[in-house]
Amino acid sequence: MAINRRQFLRLSSATALLPATACTVFPVEKHYSAHVVVIGGGFAGATAAKTLRLLAPDIKVSLIEQNPVYTTCPTSNWVVAGLKKIHDLQLDYQALANHQVDVIIDRVTGIDPDNKTVSLQQGNRLYYDRLIVAPGIDFIWDDIAGFNAEAAEQVPHAWKAGKQTEILRRQLVSMPENGRVIIVAPKNPFRCPPGPYERASLMAWYCQRYKPKAKILILDHKRGFSKQVLFMQGWRRLYGYGSSRSMIEWLSIADNPVTALIGKRQLETDFGDHFKADVMNIIPWQKAGKIAQIAGLTDQRGWCPVNPVNSESRLIPNIHVIGDAAIYPGIPKSAFAANSEAKACAFAVSSLLKGEEFTHPLWMNTCYSLLSADQAISVSMVYKLDNNNQIIKVKDAGGVSAKTNVAALQKEAGYAKNWYQSIIYDSFME
Ligand code: FAD
Repeated sequence: MAINRRQFLRLSSATALLPATACTVFPVEKHYSAHVVVIGGGFAGATAAKTLRLLAPDIKVSLIEQNPVYTTCPTSNWVVAGLKKIHDLQLDYQALANHQVDVIIDRVTGIDPDNKTVSLQQGNRLYYDRLIVAPGIDFIWDDIAGFNAEAAEQVPHAWKAGKQTEILRRQLVSMPENGRVIIVAPKNPFRCPPGPYERASLMAWYCQRYKPKAKILILDHKRGFSKQVLFMQGWRRLYGYGSSRSMIEWLSIADNPVTALIGKRQLETDFGDHFKADVMNIIPWQKAGKIAQIAGLTDQRGWCPVNPVNSESRLIPNIHVIGDAAIYPGIPKSAFAANSEAKACAFAVSSLLKGEEFTHPLWMNTCYSLLSADQAISVSMVYKLDNNNQIIKVKDAGGVSAKTNVAALQKEAGYAKNWYQSIIYDSFME
């Protein structure tokens, strides 16, 4: 009887049989039926790893994450406004390890789909039966001259939470009382579509208290944005939006994009307009995380196309992509959606490995955004597949929060806080 590669690796001393130059490929212990490797311990990867362990204890799950501590982007805008500290957003992977997820702190440097292995920076390789790739996003630095990873040390994007968030917070706090913040909002698609506008809201909330003459200008590379009506209603009520005293101004520059950052505080656009700021916050254009690009999982737009039925890559078999890196047409790139995609993926992967049928997935998303410390708005949606396996919205299943009812908006702020606790628990905890 012929043996497959997995059985071969399990039966053999893998190191001895590999060429002398190869690194170690760890065999899977005999009591496991298969090995799933997950790349990336964000909302997507952590949820997939945990769910797989719960669904299929006989499958070994290894999670490879490059950082021992994860800082959540959700509620990082709250840190900018001083409503939370950065350490409130940080967690480690001990709870996932307690779930018997094999957590490996290392960076994946390559994927070999022919031999079904991933290479790690510290020199080892892991064999997988199925691979789940969830590396989040990477930035595109080519569009704005003078703005790159190095410049972002002083002109923070704060679109990956952590040090960047703290730089932006410090700059806001030390800004002159009548200073001007510019937020450059990226073109679609990007992580957290309402994020730039929540940031503007919370900066305005902060400035109203500590720098009442300050202004926040959003230069937007889109013609419209997520929850626009809800945001603008809130800004009108809270920050005088639309009046000469408005603290927030929104300007679409879809036809006149930013082309250069001059020094640290000035922008130039395609038509030669100049915008100066005391705090410059440029959110770069985005694409799937680097490892997805290296592995050939991305299309010409820089994102990973997947079959939504089972989240398998449309470009490489046996590899599934979830979270911000993947394209699930119509579903926004959010932690909520990443968690939802991860659960559907874990179910599909477990079923595929066991040769079982599985039902078509449903996905959910709710995005909360604070307008102020105690008022929030939200949008919710449920998605399913139609008969052609295209993602569609489930009719009458979603909706948006109240626009002007302050008591309802205050309740939404409570829901936002509770949602954060729940998603952390659901994705990362025991
Ligand atoms: P990530 O969370 O980015 O996780 C990817 C992980 O992969 C990282 O830990 C990274 O270190 C790791 N990784 C990458 N490459 C490798 C490699 N080669 N080897 C090993 N590890 C690797 N969403 C919401 O639902 N609600 C919100 O309120 C919300 N607010 C937000 C506010 C802001 C300011 C921002 C920027 C985002 C917000 N989001 C929100 C969006 C949310 O953060 C993302 O959608 C979510 O983090 C996506 O999860 P992910 O697992 O795909 O990616």
